[in-house]
Amino acid sequence: MSEHDLVLKGIKIFRQGGWNTFDLAVMGRNISRIAPAGSEKLEAKKILDFSGRYASPGWIDLHTHLLPLRYGGIGTHAEKIGLKTGVTALLEVGTVGADTFDKFYEKVLSKSATPIYCLLNIKRRGIRFWKVGRDEPGEDNIGAMEAVLKKYPAIIKGIKITASKEHMLSKDPLYYLRRAREAGDRLKLPLMVHIGQTPPSLTDLLPLLKAGDILTHCFRNGDHTILNPAGKIRQDVLEAKARGVRFDIGHGVKSFSFPVTEKALAQGFLDFTISSDLYMFSTPYRAKNFAHVLSKFLAVGMKLEEVMLRCSTKAAPVLGLERELAEGKPATVTVFRLESGSFRFSDCWNQERPGTQRIIPEAVLLEGRLHLSA
Ligand SMILES: [Zn+2]
Repeated sequence: MSEHDLVLKGIKIFRQGGWNTFDLAVMGRNISRIAPAGSEKLEAKKILDFSGRYASPGWIDLHTHLLPLRYGGIGTHAEKIGLKTGVTALLEVGTVGADTFDKFYEKVLSKSATPIYCLLNIKRRGIRFWKVGRDEPGEDNIGAMEAVLKKYPAIIKGIKITASKEHMLSKDPLYYLRRAREAGDRLKLPLMVHIGQTPPSLTDLLPLLKAGDILTHCFRNGDHTILNPAGKIRQDVLEAKARGVRFDIGHGVKSFSFPVTEKALAQGFLDFTISSDLYMFSTPYRAKNFAHVLSKFLAVGMKLEEVMLRCSTKAAPVLGLERELAEGKPATVTVFRLESGSFRFSDCWNQERPGTQRIIPEAVLLEGRLHLSA
């Protein structure tokens, strides 16, 4: 009789101070045993040899766009950037608003093998490809957002606002930000604020952010960054962090800078989550895929276990999920290998960094069910 459903033999897990080798057993949806490799005879219906492979708590990508162009959005296909690429949960951020959520649910979310969660755009029709959305008054409808939240409470995890000039009202660039704040307070949901072209500037928007809110594109470069002209982390950014505002990468096409990242890391600014901002343009282009974005953090000198923490355990509370490799916890795991070689990584301003390792996903366990990567 089998004691466990599945055993992954000889897999490296960051435990006991290093990447040590373990046998990881699964029973039903949960991790049933983690034992030093070969130290116990673990019986199971299925035993797979994962020697040389690494296990991370299941990856979560907190910044993606999943409503494709054919439905009016700017998204990529959930299918292509989910389980097949090691990602065990996707957060769709603001491509969809209260008026377009039902369509998104029907066409994308309900068909996805990868669990999808959603931040509703403060604008009723979300981010649309055909119309950027400047100077569209009356796009906010908090009552309509409330109705969507009531219908899908397990899916809607917050509110997204693209706080960039081209999405704001020219006469009152802070209008939609104030409305997002109002919606967040009324619906008891966190905000995710995209920073882009000013106005609004960080000076305008940081005071509106509270504990649990997320500032995405935190290591962008351009007309405003989290650094002051002297290259130090801005005081108001440090204050926001101290009061519990979360910071998120959101790599995308124009939102990730190696120099900003390196300066932030050097100053001990380490409290952030790593996300891809994959959408129709970033998928074939700069961000490529989630593992590629993660590998860039190895290239700037971050340790593998620190990178893994920022795309799993640290991201999980935003969605109310658990990501921890421990007995009794959900068996949601990303299995990957490290490829050695001579690689060049680029940011969004054509800055390159050499790297010697690349993260390649091989499989995921989603609550105990095994899916192999493409
Ligand atoms: Zn985005």
